[in-house]
Amino acid sequence: MEEENTTIIMASLSTLSPSHLTNLTHSILSISHHHRRRLAAVLSSPTLFSLTLRHLLSLSLPDKTHLIANHLLSLLNPLLINRKHQSLTSYATNMKLRDLDAVVLLLFLCETHQLDPDVLEASADNWREILGNMCSDTMLSNNSGLWTCDAGILMPYIETLVRCKRFVDIMGGYNHLRRGDQKQGYEVPAARAAVVALRAVEVFKGAGEEVECVICKEEMSEGRDVCEMPCQHSFHWKCILPWLSKKNTCPSCRFQLPTDDVFSEIQRLWEILVKTSDLHVA
Ligand SMILES: [Zn+2]
Ligand SMILES: [Zn+2]
Repeated sequence: MEEENTTIIMASLSTLSPSHLTNLTHSILSISHHHRRRLAAVLSSPTLFSLTLRHLLSLSLPDKTHLIANHLLSLLNPLLINRKHQSLTSYATNMKLRDLDAVVLLLFLCETHQLDPDVLEASADNWREILGNMCSDTMLSNNSGLWTCDAGILMPYIETLVRCKRFVDIMGGYNHLRRGDQKQGYEVPAARAAVVALRAVEVFKGAGEEVECVICKEEMSEGRDVCEMPCQHSFHWKCILPWLSKKNTCPSCRFQLPTDDVFSEIQRLWEILVKTSDLHVA
């Protein structure tokens, strides 16, 4: 599964133009640096470390899942900027610094545990020192000139993204079950920002043509202002607004508008990514 996800991301990246790829590399570089700086800050200050660890330990499993999901979303966003369907919005991930520190520490703990499961057997009092050593080791190995080429920047980013995705796939599914949504895909309203950004267009008909709003099955009169979705299907405002307050999909073609629900948003962005990688294969 992990390999498949990596392949999807790589295939999608290979469809980008060189200038998009350069932009993407820059935004990934700045995100990665920011995360590394936070990790270094947490590991170098005993006070910040113990506060962050305490915050992390106080979180329930669903809370941790939510945190990782938000982090995943912020990692996914740069991949989809410049993509046609994404132009409408970019999800505003305003993670609190305290939460960012917690998630960066959590991911580093997982990474460390994966490298050496015994390391964290030590008492938590010694974790900061142990992790600090691990951290400077990995930073040194990553600094060996690799950061100057694209692969050196992209690979750690993709690995983190894929790791978060796996966690959210497992735990996010669990959360949905707990909310009683069962298997039948659950519905979420469209994001307010996306609804506000919808275009008003005037109904224009060819001779003898009838244009029907599929929600109410009534005709849309010539010259009237109606709502046009990004997929170019149009509806009466009075019909589409209540619809979008419950679902984020186009009634005609199921095109998805952005949502404020972090799990649905990950799914939506991931589907776009899969589509762009398929296009390339085809
Ligand atoms: Zn209607
Ligand atoms: Zn549509």
